Amino acid sequence: MARLELRNIDKSYGAFQAIEGLNLAVEDGSFTVFVGPSGCGKSTLLRMIAGLEKITGGDLIIGGRTVNTADPIERGVAMVFQNYALYPHMTVEQNIGFALRIAGLGREEIARRVMDVAKTLQVESLLKRKPAQLSGGQRQRVAIGRAIVRNPDVFLFDEPLSNLDAELRVSMRVEIAKLHQRLRTTMIYVTHDQTEAMTLADRIVVIRAGKIEQVGTPQQLYSDPENLFVAGFIGSPRMNLLDGTTAPDGSVRLACGAVFHTTAPLPAAGTPVKLGIRPEHFTVDEGGLEIAATVDVVENLGGTRFIYGQLASGESVVIEERSERPLQRGETLSFRASPSRALLFAADGTRIRD
Ligand code: ATP
Repeated sequence: MARLELRNIDKSYGAFQAIEGLNLAVEDGSFTVFVGPSGCGKSTLLRMIAGLEKITGGDLIIGGRTVNTADPIERGVAMVFQNYALYPHMTVEQNIGFALRIAGLGREEIARRVMDVAKTLQVESLLKRKPAQLSGGQRQRVAIGRAIVRNPDVFLFDEPLSNLDAELRVSMRVEIAKLHQRLRTTMIYVTHDQTEAMTLADRIVVIRAGKIEQVGTPQQLYSDPENLFVAGFIGSPRMNLLDGTTAPDGSVRLACGAVFHTTAPLPAAGTPVKLGIRPEHFTVDEGGLEIAATVDVVENLGGTRFIYGQLASGESVVIEERSERPLQRGETLSFRASPSRALLFAADGTRIRD
């Protein structure tokens, strides 16, 4: 059993509180991804789970045992680092087998287990090389191999793909997904990359300033964010967040001049609100909210394109469009959004639901 529980976890560095009263349960065999802006505490949290950073308050429970002060090995966790952290003077074989040697296993067993892992990660032909003789992707495989060989209950990944080029990132991302399907070991993964978070996670934990904003499946966070922060953080390009004010007739008057009709219970007339619409949720269909955007820049990705424009209010807007109609910079176009796709937020960032 490798269910993991964080109970009321605090972490302070001197007077600075990096993590505050954080509660989270990570189910056995799940793939959990921590995301959040730079400095929010993702790595600190992961390092506390790994045993590389002291826990200031609260309890860390792995497989039913409180392990706040246990050694990393005793916790049954293995971590894969962004910079791979391989021993430069050791061969691939020695790097992968290192933890087993420390554990005092016999030579034959070490050789067998190292070979199993090397086959899984397709690095058998590299066993005699040193890290300096490997590509970035190969180093990353060896780093993962070093974690797998220990047969841990929990894998911790700290931005493991961020030093790889775009193509290799995609293929290693798929490799990690396959690895999880095969091993079914609990995995916790920190990343800045939206695609990694959305594609790898069973559950995403959104962290901001040392606290959890929301925990949910990628789809829940994408289509049903609990607040403005999560709405703006999940999704790339970001959700458009348009300024508006509640009107006496129960509609929302947007700063850009458009009117949004809703059945949601709105705060008193004259209250500022935000209306969130994802770039991909604009359509050319009739009905719904209509906005006029002046085209600044068009990014054509082949199958789809992003139109970066401006509204009459001066607000920027991003619209995803699959059409191939010719567009001119400075041209003003009309776009529509279905009310069911638009999310309303109060000035304090909370969702206003229908
Ligand atoms: P990034 O995405 O940039 O890696 P992060 O979310 O992983 O950021 P952490 O590295 O966990 O953030 O840092 C959380 C906060 O704690 C930051 O404000 C950071 O400056 C602070 N911090 C981290 N390590 C220390 C330390 N050893 N001493 C003091 N403050 C620290």
